[in-house]
Amino acid sequence: MNIQHQCPLDQLNTLGFPATAEAFVSVTSEQMLTDAVHYADKQGLKLHILGGGSNILVTPNVSGLVVKMDIKGRTVNMSGDSALLTLGAGEEWHKTVAWSVAQGFSGIESMALIPGSVGAAPVQNIGAYGTELKDNFVHLRAYDIEQKRWVDFDKKACQFAYRDSLFKQQPGRYIITEVTLSLSKVAAPRLKYAALQGFFDQKGINAPSLSQIFDAVCEVRRSKLPDPATLGNAGSFFKNPVITNSQCDALISHFPDLVRYPDQPGYTKLAAGWLIDQCHWKGKRQGNVGVYDKQALVLVHYGDGQLDELLDLSEQIQTSVQSKFGVSLEREPQIFPLI
Ligand SMILES: Cc1cc2nc3c(=O)[nH]c(=O)nc-3n(C[C@H](O)[C@H](O)[C@H](O)COP(=O)(O)OP(=O)(O)OC[C@H]3O[C@@H](n4cnc5c(N)ncnc54)[C@H](O)[C@@H]3O)c2cc1C
Repeated sequence: MNIQHQCPLDQLNTLGFPATAEAFVSVTSEQMLTDAVHYADKQGLKLHILGGGSNILVTPNVSGLVVKMDIKGRTVNMSGDSALLTLGAGEEWHKTVAWSVAQGFSGIESMALIPGSVGAAPVQNIGAYGTELKDNFVHLRAYDIEQKRWVDFDKKACQFAYRDSLFKQQPGRYIITEVTLSLSKVAAPRLKYAALQGFFDQKGINAPSLSQIFDAVCEVRRSKLPDPATLGNAGSFFKNPVITNSQCDALISHFPDLVRYPDQPGYTKLAAGWLIDQCHWKGKRQGNVGVYDKQALVLVHYGDGQLDELLDLSEQIQTSVQSKFGVSLEREPQIFPLI
């Protein structure tokens, strides 16, 4: 194991905040992972798991051992009309989507261009354009650092919910090393999202193919979201708040244009970006951080800034949305490491 001390993490978080890990190791196998766990135990270091760093708010001094998940691997098992895809946690999510589309396997094409690793995808049950990871999820393998044993989780055990799972609820306990998805070899791809439907309507395409959907998702996302390679960001900074239908009716009476989507029976999901935009935050810059000018849900780091500046801005946004709409916004990316 190549343990590095005082390792910079600046290039390992998509917001690009400066940070240093007390100790750092990249693991490429399950054996290396358990070796790293033992090393941390022996040295009395806390363990922190890192994937692609696209959903974290890294603090400047990370004490303990940061374990970067670089376990690769992709195997396919054909089972009837399904392709069972087993992936190492360190595989890049977008490359996995592109590969499955090239094979003609449908199911995850509308989650193209989500940055990060396969191993982190179950943590917040990633989703985009009406599809969530759970829709194609079969099981995963993880190391339980409390019980010091390997565990298999089926879909039910993962407790998936909107941008949530058991792994988010019990942070740091399970280290995911392998994820199995079930993709379809035959099902026609389905459009579940109005924005994508509109994209194809404009082009006069009635039944888009798998690769047309993949390309459309990439095009729409590139037009709306900043590329972390050029502008630091962690994607959506807040979750879309879910409120009861009666709360929603009360809001509509004051704000008839309220952007909303049906959720589970009795509940409505509000578009957090719209709420923030109505509070006039879109495009505003405060020092080295700001609100992206094409999507108010995305907070950006222009460079040379600190996490505190971004947290301060996000709290101001939460306060103004709360006082205008009476709705609280919950942050999506997590502080790293969690205390
Ligand atoms: C431009 C942009 C667009 C985005 N769009 C979307 C979107 O459309 N939908 C969406 O859902 N998300 C989106 N995100 C958020 C992010 O890409 C996802 O949450 C992604 O799954 C994070 O993966 P990661 O490997 O970068 O995780 P990291 O940021 O490295 O880690 C996130 C959390 O997961 C934990 N973790 C990481 N790997 C493992 C593992 N193997 N086992 C256990 N815990 C682990 C970490 O400890 C941390 O708490 C976007 C982000 C950006 C920058």
